[in-house]
Amino acid sequence: MRKQIVAGNWKMNLDAAQSQALIDNLQSKTFNDDVHVAIATPYVHLAAAVSQTAHSAIDVAAQNMHQAVSGAYTGEVSASMLKSIGVTTVILGHSERRAYFHETDALLAEKVNAALENDMQIIFCFGEELEDRKAGNHFDLVTSQLTNALFHLDVTSWNNIVLAYEPVWAIGTGETASPEQAQEMHAHIRTVLAGQYDDALAQRISILYGGSVKPSNANEIFAQQDVDGGLIGGASLNADDFTAIVNAF
Ligand code: PEP
Repeated sequence: MRKQIVAGNWKMNLDAAQSQALIDNLQSKTFNDDVHVAIATPYVHLAAAVSQTAHSAIDVAAQNMHQAVSGAYTGEVSASMLKSIGVTTVILGHSERRAYFHETDALLAEKVNAALENDMQIIFCFGEELEDRKAGNHFDLVTSQLTNALFHLDVTSWNNIVLAYEPVWAIGTGETASPEQAQEMHAHIRTVLAGQYDDALAQRISILYGGSVKPSNANEIFAQQDVDGGLIGGASLNADDFTAIVNAF
């Protein structure tokens, strides 16, 4: 059975006290034991979040990292720095990084390599813009994002990869892909993985859906055969909503 995962992407939200309070609140909740839960806090809260969650099953992830080992990259953070404070998971390729920070597939391939060199787990995000979907290019676009950023990897490296399909038109918009649209794309992704690698790999990779997942729609989305969980933005900032989503499986 594939790993079921619900990860919260806090983006650039919450100060230190608010972060601590949200984690306290989450730790008072009862989560479905079968679901792996992660929260991606802003960089400045990571170390505190790691120590706060030390005795709980909540994993703490970074929202980004730089591809270089170290050096003159003012404002950036490397994989080994994250590892040194106990962060072993990183989100790469989020659509906001692609859109506002001009992250290309080629750059993301470098970031993926750097994360793997440090044996980090990667939640790799990708997805089409509205124009791509309207033009009927969404399957090809997603195939090319995966090909360009990930298909240089060998089979073993995929042990560290979780995919997160996030149609850009559904992120933070209140617009959700229908469960059928999510399932159709997730099935496509498995077909592409099977073609590039083999069926065993395609069947073992967890593929999350992201884009306006809420307590009211999580159950229907997670019920789809090829959907293994969610990457949650806005709703992850509310402990009750996030818990309801984790327990929607
Ligand atoms: C996200 O940021 O990855 C996301 C899915 O955001 P939201 O849930 O707010 O659409």
